[in-house]
Amino acid sequence: MTGHSDSASAPPPRTVRCPACGGPSLYAPENRFRPFCSERCKRRDLGDWASERFRLQAEPDQGIDSLPPDTRLQ
Ligand SMILES: [Zn+2]
Repeated sequence: MTGHSDSASAPPPRTVRCPACGGPSLYAPENRFRPFCSERCKRRDLGDWASERFRLQAEPDQGIDSLPPDTRLQ
């Protein structure tokens, strides 16, 4: 077993900057979350605009119909 010859023949992994966390992200086919470094970062980035969109849509519907204004304030 010559481990060092294996690593020497393999090309160095190409990394890019993760748009979500700014950390190094492996830019290779095995990283299916690229350019993000991980699934968490990819979902976090998608979740940011998704939650903002949901919040804008949900705000007029929430509270007003189910609770009177006085109860919301207290
Ligand atoms: Zn990241």
